[in-house]
Amino acid sequence: MSCAGCFRPDIALCSRCLARLEAPIARPSIAVATALWGVPVISGGAYRGARRRVVGAIKDTGVRHLTGALVSHAMIGELDALARNHPRLILVPVPPSARGFFLRGFWPTALIATALSRESAGLPVLRGLSLGRPAIGDLLAGFSRSPRSRTARLRRRWAQLKVRGLPAQSQVVLVDDVMVTGATLEACARALKRQGHSVIAVFVVAHVPQLHKSPFPRSGRQVYSERATLTRRT
Ligand SMILES: [Zn+2]
Repeated sequence: MSCAGCFRPDIALCSRCLARLEAPIARPSIAVATALWGVPVISGGAYRGARRRVVGAIKDTGVRHLTGALVSHAMIGELDALARNHPRLILVPVPPSARGFFLRGFWPTALIATALSRESAGLPVLRGLSLGRPAIGDLLAGFSRSPRSRTARLRRRWAQLKVRGLPAQSQVVLVDDVMVTGATLEACARALKRQGHSVIAVFVVAHVPQLHKSPFPRSGRQVYSERATLTRRT
């Protein structure tokens, strides 16, 4: 066994890495994606260093006790404040890609949602979003390195997103591991809104601070920035 953050031997997560995850910034960085209609995105921090390695360790091996370390006190504070204003708040994890679930057999996002629930007021976690059974062609395409087949596969998959098992007109906090372009989160928010639910906020344990090229064609509009306050960018 070695530290998931720095590979120091004989410990799952050393105190130095734990401190780094807990206090990289005074407040969680708050990004607002225009594609999410101004829904606040609460991120634990930038996807780099120890945070990146710990996220990787959870996704690769499902080391459950590490998820608590990624959920900072600042994030819990934000979630508790939201829960006070929205008494029926529900945590909904973003479903894994077909390939991710095929390789791992578990939902890393559900582990993160459970950690958020445990550390906060005990908000319910419901797997209300599902991608259904993957087509075998999609599974194979998942292993392809061609960006075109990857884009086509992603589009097909996320268009099949199903909403089920949520109470009518739910107030949802979407939970994802890493926000890159926000395209996945946008697809989830869209599907929830179509079914009459509202998305109150998005919580991610990390975000990629640079603007990356989106696999979707409207990438030019998907701008987000690190802000200390909630600001709608138009
Ligand atoms: Zn360490």
